[in-house]
Parts: sequence; structure tokens; C-alpha cells
Amino acid sequence: MGPLQGKVALVTGGSRGIGAATATRLAADGAAVALTYRTARDRAADVVRHIEEAGGKALALAADAADSSAIATAVDRTATDLGALDILVNNAGVFPYGTIGDVTLADYDDTMAVHVRAAFVAVQTAAAHLRTGGRIISIGSSLVGRVPAPGLSLYSMSESALVGLTKGISRDLGPRGITANVVHPGSTDTEMNPADGEGADEERALTALNRYGTPADVAAAVAYLAGPGGAYVTGAEITVDGGVNA
Ligand code: NAP
Repeated sequence: MGPLQGKVALVTGGSRGIGAATATRLAADGAAVALTYRTARDRAADVVRHIEEAGGKALALAADAADSSAIATAVDRTATDLGALDILVNNAGVFPYGTIGDVTLADYDDTMAVHVRAAFVAVQTAAAHLRTGGRIISIGSSLVGRVPAPGLSLYSMSESALVGLTKGISRDLGPRGITANVVHPGSTDTEMNPADGEGADEERALTALNRYGTPADVAAAVAYLAGPGGAYVTGAEITVDGGVNA
């Protein structure tokens, strides 16, 4: 019996990277897990199969985070198909890169839709389903705390909005026994930011631990917040960045 036995979780962007590791970890801790994807249907199915082979329960749902109605439907379907909703993880994300003169308004709209509007809609929809003891966890970025290079303003701005949303809803939903927190990953080895990619050595050099994080490192922080140990943590930010912001 894991600490999340009997709980139901939804992880957005669960087909790979941090989302896949988080879905897998929450399932290993006992939760039934729904995960969304945008295009990677086969990879989402692989994550579901992996969870089921380990004895867990999982469900993949197509839902473009830029499409508000698709997000709301995914939240509702999680509660319907898995019977409840206890844990929402807003993870789906993109990485717009460019200095302030280079990024466009289209980049702005796309990024804000996926990082901010999607999280807002998911929280609004989930609020109708979440039971007492519910958890909302959003994946932000260590670039909220420190922007160490040019080209990151749009990304940092969009992730920063999750902090305000989280603090606000911790007050709105706290009386119902629901917590809300942000986990800020630093350089984490995924397709978005491979540890052997261009610029990876510079990123590694910014850490105190001299290494990239793994998706499992981030998932462990989410599991803590989702589990019994996180019951009295709300409106908070947990940074999992190997010391970049030290
Ligand atoms: P990743 O490997 O690129 O995976 C991104 C995930 O998000 C995929 O499952 C992808 O689905 C999904 N996704 C992207 N756009 C979507 C959309 N419009 N609708 C639905 N799903 C969408 O990225 P990651 O590194 O795991 O990043 C996960 C989160 O951590 C992001 O919010 C990112 O900003 C944040 N983060 C990452 C790092 C890092 O160094 N990796 C650092 C700080 C913060 P498909 O496979 O279907 O495209």
C-alpha cells in the first residue's frame, strides 16, 4: 500500500520528460493516474503500459494545453473515468527562446496559453472535483528565481505567473483543505533540455552539484507535496535545481 493509495491524479504533459516521471512516480505511490499529451499518442500509451505492467492504473487523454475546452474536458474525464480527483499536476510546457527583440506576440500568446491559461482553466475545472485533502502542484522553473542568461524573458515571465496563481488559490481553496504549491525544476535532462545538448555544460556549471537533475528528482518533490508529508505545505515554492539559485 503506497501513500497515495485510493487517490486519483491528473498530470498534464505526461507523455515524456518530467510529466512521464511524475505520472509514473504517483502511480508507484498508489494513485490512479490520468496523463495528457498533445501529439505523442504512442509515447503516452507507453507510459500507461509501463504503469499498468507495474500493477498501477493509468489513462492517457489527448488534450492540447492551448485549447481551454480540451483541458477542461480532460479534467472532467479524469474525475468521471477514474472516479474522483485528488491531485492536479500542471506540467505541460514549452520552451520559447529569444531575446525581447526576437520573440513575437505569437510566441507570447502560445506560451501564455500553454503555461498560464491552461493551468488557470485546469485549476478552475478541478476545483469543482477536488476532495478534501486535494493537492494542486504546478511545475514552474528555477528561472523564476534567477535568469542567468539572455533569451529567457518570455519563458521566465510565463512561469512566474504560476507563483501568483498558486498563492491566490492556496487562499481560495485552503478552507476546503486543498493545498497548492509550485515545484521549480532547474536544468533537468529531458528532450526540452538534454544534458548533452548545446549549452548544457554552461547550465551544469551554474549548479552547486555540478550535474543536471533527472525527471525523477523533480517527481520526488511532487510526490512529497502530493503525499501525507506535504499536508501542511501550501502557497509555497520548492526549488529542485541542484543549487543554481544558491
Ligand atoms: P518535455 O520533455 O519537452 O515534455 C513536454 C511535455 O509537455 C510533453 O509530454 C508534451 O506532450 C507536453 N506538451 C507540450 N506542449 C503541450 C501542449 N500544448 N498541450 C499538451 N501537452 C503539451 O519537457 P520537460 O522538460 O519534461 O518539461 C516539463 C515541464 O517542466 C515544463 O513545464 C517545463 O517548462 C518545466 N521545466 C523543465 C526544465 C528542464 O530543464 N527540462 C526546467 C525547468 C522547468 P507531447 O509529447 O504530446 O508533445
